[in-house]
Amino acid sequence: MNLVLVLGVALLLLIVGTLLGRYYAPDRRPLMRAAEEGKAYAKGLVELLEGDPDGAIDEITSALKKNAKTVEAYFALGTLFRNRGEYERAVRVHQAILVRRDVDKKTRLRVHQQLALDFKAAGFPRRAVKALEWIVTQDKKRVDTFRELAALYEETAQWERAAGAHKRIARLTGEKGGEHARIQAHLLAQLAGELVDAGKLAEARKQIRRALAANAESVHTLHVFARYQEKRGDHAAAAKLWERCLRLRPNLAAFFAPRLENALFELGRLEQLERILTELVRQHAGNAHLRLAYARFDARRNPERALAELTSLLAEAPGLLPARREAARLVLERNDPGEIRRAFEDMVGLLERADRGYRCEACSHTQQDLFWRCTSCGAWGSVGVQWGRRRGEASDGETSRGAAA
Ligand SMILES: [Zn+2]
Repeated sequence: MNLVLVLGVALLLLIVGTLLGRYYAPDRRPLMRAAEEGKAYAKGLVELLEGDPDGAIDEITSALKKNAKTVEAYFALGTLFRNRGEYERAVRVHQAILVRRDVDKKTRLRVHQQLALDFKAAGFPRRAVKALEWIVTQDKKRVDTFRELAALYEETAQWERAAGAHKRIARLTGEKGGEHARIQAHLLAQLAGELVDAGKLAEARKQIRRALAANAESVHTLHVFARYQEKRGDHAAAAKLWERCLRLRPNLAAFFAPRLENALFELGRLEQLERILTELVRQHAGNAHLRLAYARFDARRNPERALAELTSLLAEAPGLLPARREAARLVLERNDPGEIRRAFEDMVGLLERADRGYRCEACSHTQQDLFWRCTSCGAWGSVGVQWGRRRGEASDGETSRGAAA
């Protein structure tokens, strides 16, 4: 609605400008024509404000036929088409401006901005990228355009370009290190990871170096680096890197500890894991993820001790599902019917608490009791069941949502 108002005001100014500009013309004919155009624009504007975009488009189109010089009308028309989902026509209207010889650089930049919006809305991010890239070749200081470009590069998995855009933004805004460097490292690590997968190790190494230069503590990069070393057969280097990952992010022990373990196993130095985990558990007293990782490791040597540790861990953190699973596995291995029964009863109790029953199809909010108005997003009739949703129910939620919106 805001956009409609802005457009409306823009058109109104246009009409006033056109009429004023021609008022002093000695010949009466241009004045008459301007008045007629103004009438068409005004009618288009009124129809637009009254919610008749079809009529507005017709009026403005007919005004354009009489005077093709008014660039603003093209912009207005392009926006109208885009808002109505007629992307092809929006693109054609905007491109029509570029064909003309009398447009200045500022207008050209504006057209490309609009084209980027058209392509983005139409679902052609790569063509939107092309339009935005043209803008930054003309004006290298547009932070906003670089931001849009960075987002589109990410969307289209062009990691290196996205990293370049972030670097440029950091330079333009004068931000030192911080957020942009952190994201740059992620983007380059993402690229390096894909290169490792593809077996392009030399290229991967180059990107890893760049990622570490942006952020030496990037766990994402260190993990990709470890995978790279492993692929090269350097288990010692891989182990060192995964150890760093584990120390930097002890909460991700469930992910890093098994990788570290594999690398140390290859080296025949499994006892190092014992030392590292014991030290980390002591350092981060009570960290459930580290304790779980240790119990998992310990279970292979001493299942009794591991089960005791898991039981005490679960007493403190009953919702820690991976610990529950590990404990259940150990209980099953021991094959004591009484213990198995107790573990099973525990599990049923846990499932009861985990099952929230109903879910909003609009925002995924879950709730124990049935609801008609979602307490989270306010949608009416969006309720579905949390588990085992059937197709018919989903499409039902769809229609009621459409009606609400
Ligand atoms: Zn909701």
